[in-house]
Amino acid sequence: MTTTGRLAGRYALITGASRGIGRAIAIRFAQEGATVAINFSGSRGAAEETLRQAQEASRGAGGSDKPHMIVKADVGDEHAISRMFDEVLGIWGHLDILVNNAGIQSQAESHIYPLEEYRRILDVNLTGALVCSQAAIRHYLSRPGGGTILNCSSVHEMVPKPGFIAYSISKGGLRNMTRTLALEYADRGIRVNAVAPGAIVTDINAAWKDDPEARSNVESHIPMGRAGTPEEMAAVFAFLASDDASYVTGQTLYACGGLTLFGE
Ligand code: NAD
Repeated sequence: MTTTGRLAGRYALITGASRGIGRAIAIRFAQEGATVAINFSGSRGAAEETLRQAQEASRGAGGSDKPHMIVKADVGDEHAISRMFDEVLGIWGHLDILVNNAGIQSQAESHIYPLEEYRRILDVNLTGALVCSQAAIRHYLSRPGGGTILNCSSVHEMVPKPGFIAYSISKGGLRNMTRTLALEYADRGIRVNAVAPGAIVTDINAAWKDDPEARSNVESHIPMGRAGTPEEMAAVFAFLASDDASYVTGQTLYACGGLTLFGE
């Protein structure tokens, strides 16, 4: 993998980076020269593995070991988010990139969807992203240079996903959050964009990722005929985080193998 150093000197906080797409983003950003804060809420061991791989990626990029860090916080809890920003800004004194990646989902028919479950999904996927964005924006406004926010949305911000009402609402909300914040802060050097993955091979898709028949059924609905990888998502995040996207704000980039083209 060649690296371009597009994110050299940048400091990035990535939520839910202990595995999956978040881990791939942390590693890719490190590869491109960024210093990363790896947020996690569950197993510290998984976050430490992301940290190890990010450190290795930094070395591979030709730089010295960067002071990457891991930071525990449940992004469904605003107090934990506040402590996370205190910790990150206390150590670095600086942040340039926030990636709201953490996300959860669960399935039930809408008429019996448990309200408690709905609230939890909205808290993590949407309110957590907003509270993190508020903290990042306050920091960006406190010093010159602006900053950027990237939200991990989903094709389901646009394409309905029956049985996943809370998830679909959370991602639809994330789309409006992306566009509203982008417009509100465009004149103050803050860019806000989203990446909308399609079907990506991560643990959130445990229902089909390791089952050949179920996976083949999922892939048969994708124009490119295959699921995507976390690394392919990370490449899109890196582009939007970099100055290569300096004139891009308020956009959702669909990285879905053409999935959203059906029905248009
Ligand atoms: P994943 O389940 O492997 O990763 C989700 C990550 O979020 C994990 O690291 C998990 O620990 C973390 N997380 C969950 N709740 C958290 C909380 N309360 N606080 C902090 N971290 C928390 O799945 P993934 O596919 O890597 O998901 C990453 C993002 O991509 C999610 O927002 C998801 O909605 C989105 N997405 C995934 C797909 C896909 O097909 N995999 C498609 C569209 C969108």
